[in-house]
Amino acid sequence: MIDSHAHLDSKEFDQDLNQILERCQEKNVRFVISCGTDLSSSQKNLDLSKQNPMIFAAIGVHPHETYLMDENTIEKLKKLSKEMRVIAIGETGLDYYYNFSLPEVQRKAFRVHIRLARERGLPLVIHCRNSEEDLIKILKEEKASEVGGVIHCFSGRKETALACLEFGFYLGVSGMITFKNTKDLSALFSELPMERLLVETDSPYLAPHPYRGKRNEPSYVVHTALKLAELKNLTLEKVENQTTENVENLFQLNKVNK
Ligand SMILES: [Zn+2]
Repeated sequence: MIDSHAHLDSKEFDQDLNQILERCQEKNVRFVISCGTDLSSSQKNLDLSKQNPMIFAAIGVHPHETYLMDENTIEKLKKLSKEMRVIAIGETGLDYYYNFSLPEVQRKAFRVHIRLARERGLPLVIHCRNSEEDLIKILKEEKASEVGGVIHCFSGRKETALACLEFGFYLGVSGMITFKNTKDLSALFSELPMERLLVETDSPYLAPHPYRGKRNEPSYVVHTALKLAELKNLTLEKVENQTTENVENLFQLNKVNK
């Protein structure tokens, strides 16, 4: 199994990252894709990926942080994107729920990330909250389907899910489906094709049941996979194999020099 979205650079993991990765191995979680949220976090994820063969890095500036971006940031991202263990551009996207950065600033930065992804031939790791219409519009205008990607922690409407699938994107299934109050989301995933779903934790955030409210960690992705297996009426093994294959296809992990 692969945790397709985590933030191992988070200071919450500074003390015990090695134990966390050991627990991954115990739970058959072979790889973790650790996603940058700004320049220094992207650099830290790259460093971690070089130190540990279980970790791959995605680099980018989270929509919350885009108000800090300038030309220098973009140049540095370009440089980082050439590193062997960088397998995706992100976390990028739009978040109109918090609006920590102005929507206009977020949209501009999102376009910059998509252009970089196309330039480097890397898929996108996308965050979307209360911004579905603009997100799809920009993905189309910037021809993001050329490189594809994942809408991580998908929790949007059915129409959006279908539009993203049609556009060649994958959807990230997070621990949210293990919560009691997310029946609509679970119902939606039960209808979507297994071939286009990834499982993820978004660690250290969003811990699945029975760890809700605590620090999340990549080995907990098994709880999301179990719930997905229940929804799809499949064995855990089948969900593990299919979602692993999906991650390997999207991020071309076999091409990375391990
Ligand atoms: Zn994230």
